Amino acid sequence: MSERILILGGTKEAAELAEELVAEGRSVITSLAGRTTEPLPVAGAVRKGGFGGADKLATWLIANKITKIIDATHPFARQISKNAVRAAALSDVALDIRRRQPWIRHEKDIWIEVGDLETAANTIAAGETVFLAIGSQYLQPFEHRTDVHFITRMINPPDSGIALADYKLILARPSSDWRAEAELFQANRVTTLVCRNSGGTGAHAKIIAARELAIPVIIIKMPA
Ligand code: NAP
Repeated sequence: MSERILILGGTKEAAELAEELVAEGRSVITSLAGRTTEPLPVAGAVRKGGFGGADKLATWLIANKITKIIDATHPFARQISKNAVRAAALSDVALDIRRRQPWIRHEKDIWIEVGDLETAANTIAAGETVFLAIGSQYLQPFEHRTDVHFITRMINPPDSGIALADYKLILARPSSDWRAEAELFQANRVTTLVCRNSGGTGAHAKIIAARELAIPVIIIKMPA
């Protein structure tokens, strides 16, 4: 059977991998969850939307004659990675897991490491102006913090709206230039950054900006 690779994507690394494999002449389909209405272009074929769980992913793999899955999803995207493991076993398709390493704290970083979003929300001091860099589907644990001003950045606004008490919405992709991130923090008088330890290079600029401005970071640890 000829090689057909499914990349579970939605990350910068997945797009880079697709470009590399397509340049080598390999047959590649990248799967995106479909949450971003205008995703950045990806080399090779692209499909969008959920598969309907692990069993249906397995059926899809067989129907599409996939010979290898590469899980290059975001480290906090847990369900799709679990589904990939089960679907690979059910369909007898090889699975290659590409996991990012978490960012390592630099001596100048002021980090408060926490285990989950709820603890992050409860760790913020009252009256802070918080840059909340966590993704639109994770805002709920912060809704009770009526004593905090949030600046939240996302590529698309959530369909369900935003239920934070006091917030400013910035519709943009993260910059890869730490100086641009620092300017944004200063223009908005940010006093605390809340984010996840996602690793990789795509979203690291905000960590350097916080370091350079001596802004404390409440950082959620990468899942094991
Ligand atoms: P998740 O919680 O692991 O997945 C929820 C459901 O969304 C999955 O069960 C699956 O639906 C569908 N799904 C997720 N990734 C998919 C993919 N690449 N292709 C097809 N269906 C997918 O994931 P999430 O945290 O919502 O993240 C969704 C996507 O955004 C991922 O591809 C991830 O790489 C990307 N992303 C996530 C984050 C983050 O912070 N979580 C950040 C940047 C990018 P079915 O069960 O119906 O198949």
